[in-house]
Amino acid sequence: MSAVSEGGVAALARALRARSVSSEELVRAALARIEAARDLGAFIATDAETALAQARTADAGLARGEGGPLAGVPVAHKDIFVTDFRASRLPSTAGSKMLAGYASPFDATVVARLGAGEPGRPGAGMVTLGKLNCDEFAMGSSNENSAWGPVHNPWDRARVPGGSSGGSAAAVAAGLVPAATGTDTGGSIRQPASFCGITGIKPTYGTCSRWGMIAFASSLDQAGPLARSAEDCALLLSAMSGHDPRDATSSERPPQDFHAQMLAARAGAAAARPLAGLRIGLPREFFPPALAADVAQAVRGALAELERLGATLVDVSLPRTELAIPVYYIIAPAEASSNLGRFDGVRYGHRAAQYADLADMYRKTRSEGFGAEVKRRIMIGTYVLSHGYYDAYYLQAQKLRRMIADDFRACFGQCELIAGPVAPTVAGPLGAQAADPVKAYLADIFTLPASLAGLPAMSVPAGFGEAGMPVGLQLVGDYFAEGALLHAAHALQQATDWHLKQPGGAA
Ligand code: GLN
Repeated sequence: MSAVSEGGVAALARALRARSVSSEELVRAALARIEAARDLGAFIATDAETALAQARTADAGLARGEGGPLAGVPVAHKDIFVTDFRASRLPSTAGSKMLAGYASPFDATVVARLGAGEPGRPGAGMVTLGKLNCDEFAMGSSNENSAWGPVHNPWDRARVPGGSSGGSAAAVAAGLVPAATGTDTGGSIRQPASFCGITGIKPTYGTCSRWGMIAFASSLDQAGPLARSAEDCALLLSAMSGHDPRDATSSERPPQDFHAQMLAARAGAAAARPLAGLRIGLPREFFPPALAADVAQAVRGALAELERLGATLVDVSLPRTELAIPVYYIIAPAEASSNLGRFDGVRYGHRAAQYADLADMYRKTRSEGFGAEVKRRIMIGTYVLSHGYYDAYYLQAQKLRRMIADDFRACFGQCELIAGPVAPTVAGPLGAQAADPVKAYLADIFTLPASLAGLPAMSVPAGFGEAGMPVGLQLVGDYFAEGALLHAAHALQQATDWHLKQPGGAA
């Protein structure tokens, strides 16, 4: 097993700084592993030449004792983040045929901050290996809605990796990269992290800039890292977050060191009981009778571990949990129908080869460029925003969204964190979701509430269920309480080894 798969981000950053390994070695090893694991479908593209050039720059900086905090550590980006095509020969497609051949003239803020940085702000110095597969425009939960084919779950290649950040989760789980970026609109970081047995965090809405993140539902979209451990996630999140004047919804809080916050949280607690005094709320709606027994058992096991570490479990209620599904599946398609209006064959990407007039060009371009799920959502979104239905659907959904956020506020009077499962089952077989989109929507029930409320939430490995497939524990924190969230996950990972397990079948 190579250093790339053994070491997490923290360990690799230390090894690079100690000069016991070079970035070029790490990048060469990672590229070889990616090549050997092509059939996983995790990567859409790599650019070896540019990655090696970045690695050599990082090595030269490290030799002078310079470089960002993660200098030389490899990373890969969900292909929903645009990457400057002049700097690297990497596509920016959002998993869509609509953007085949699109050459972005700039880097997303998240990409720049993890890499070389922006003018006047040095980056973390990570090396970009390539772009990762995802559901088309991040719509989906199985990664089967990608125009570039499905991604396989490294734990069982006949199963889905989850979605929409399925390529990101599979690549980390298979040891191809120590960390990857993802985006989460309604669960797309947490659910694939859970299905692939890794750690992922969606921070508070506004924490990471959406500049250069191809938009799905702007009031929900949020970037975050996927990695093996909470500690690695904290390191990436610190580097990729922070105010960006180019995103009006980005938080104006000063830059945060989430890693330091993670380590400093509950500093007075005894080493054996690092979570002493922490109240973790268990919403009864997150443990319905329909929850798969294997998931319930694994989640209960992780909760017992948190109790052993000093936490107190308290019963709470999020009474509008079930309503999160219709609310989300009105608001997200409504915003998507508006955001995707820009793909008209004039400004971006695909244009039909033959057409009679302008209206025909739009029709053919959009019919050819978008996949079935994206078209379904554009139609739903257009419908709920149309005259006469706006009040009945969209406005009602907005009101309920506020009430869902209020329910969380009430809970946070009784506890500091909320816990439950990420998904009602472990990863299912490839091919099962396409037949029944509504069934797929229903499986988002536990991740949608935190998204609608804009709260930080993460998935932490919690053991294994049916057929040895990974199960994730979901932890939700109050606004901007990422430090507390990461601390609880880190404490759990210091005491357990679920997050260290790797799929035997991985290359
Ligand atoms: N599964 C949800 C959907 O299909 C969430 C996707 C996401 O978070 N991007 O919309």
